[in-house]
Amino acid sequence: MTKRYVCPACLSRSMLVRLDKKGRPMLSCEMCSQIIFARSALKLFNMLAVSRLLDDREMLRFTRETAVQQAARPTALVDVLRETESGTSGESSQDQRKVVVNE
Ligand SMILES: [Zn+2]
Repeated sequence: MTKRYVCPACLSRSMLVRLDKKGRPMLSCEMCSQIIFARSALKLFNMLAVSRLLDDREMLRFTRETAVQQAARPTALVDVLRETESGTSGESSQDQRKVVVNE
């Protein structure tokens, strides 16, 4: 039986490791259709390690509860985009200006 990993999007154990059309590794979720492309073996194993963290019952509960609380706010998506603009990702200020929020 094919090993399944916890999907970071829907939190079900439905992610499979597959190869894309060019033979590169990717994760695809049979439950929510989320696809994550890994462009190197290291990135693939990083994602599998994160998936294993989510396989812990307490971590899964914390993740789900936090996401539900944050997503329930009316301005949730706008707030996430603003956080990106404030720039903790190390992007240049020019790149950050590319994020446009429609209110
Ligand atoms: Zn999923």
